[in-house]
Amino acid sequence: MIASGEVWLVGAGPGDPDLLTRKAEKLICSASVIFHDALVGAGVLALVPPHVRLVSVGKRSGRHSKDQKTIDALIVEAALAGERVVRLKGGDPSIFGRASEELEACHAAGIAVHICPGVTAASAAAAGLGLSLTLRGLARRLTFVTAHTVKGQVVSLDWAALADPEATLAIYMGKAAAPQVSAGLIAAGLAPDTPVALVENASLDGESHFFTRLDLLPLAARTALAGGPAVILIGRALAGRHGHGAKSAATQAAGATVPVLHGR
Ligand code: SAH
Repeated sequence: MIASGEVWLVGAGPGDPDLLTRKAEKLICSASVIFHDALVGAGVLALVPPHVRLVSVGKRSGRHSKDQKTIDALIVEAALAGERVVRLKGGDPSIFGRASEELEACHAAGIAVHICPGVTAASAAAAGLGLSLTLRGLARRLTFVTAHTVKGQVVSLDWAALADPEATLAIYMGKAAAPQVSAGLIAAGLAPDTPVALVENASLDGESHFFTRLDLLPLAARTALAGGPAVILIGRALAGRHGHGAKSAATQAAGATVPVLHGR
């Protein structure tokens, strides 16, 4: 399935191996070397056949084990040596996955490179909550945002553009930035009682859900999360968690005041 000297950027999904695509599994089994992230689930790595060389290039926030240039160079070097290379990334490779750097490095070296999509964290989080990320007439826009911080500062976000009551925001890498997200969106006009859900370890053992509201998000991010990867979902779509339709979702949005902790 993979030719010698070819590279595939493969989405490993949110962690549960059952959420891997069939294509991803086939690629994993036909690789000669796999470079994987820290966020690739243990259950997915367990599917890697013993003869395939598995190299961790794991990155977790603040603890970069290999910088991006080194990863690019490793992939290119392996492909030029005639290996069948899989670069296995958490979720979908094209969503906050530094795929463009790796694609460019391959193109520059004349290496054939392809992408196999994966289930992104926000989709897995919504599935875990049993909720839709979009609501007809109420949440018409879905925005994927990363709010990671550099030295305590959120990297420039346009709060006015994000503070749309008809949007659902899916915030990746947003735990540390929760206070700025809450303050920024409220200052830009989003209602303080806008429903928020935090989903940690989506699709994995230990998945947890925490419902709160925008003004209480900083407290929730500080106290409710245990240290696993978490996605923050903001917007009226998150009020519908009791399985009601769009109309009652809006009603609940107005009254979603009490943070509730749910295990899976
Ligand atoms: N390409 C990945 C995102 C990589 S950025 C994707 O499409 O999902 C890493 C961030 O993704 C984490 O900081 C967290 O915000 C989110 N994330 C990844 N896996 C997750 C999981 N199982 N549960 C909750 N959030 C997750």
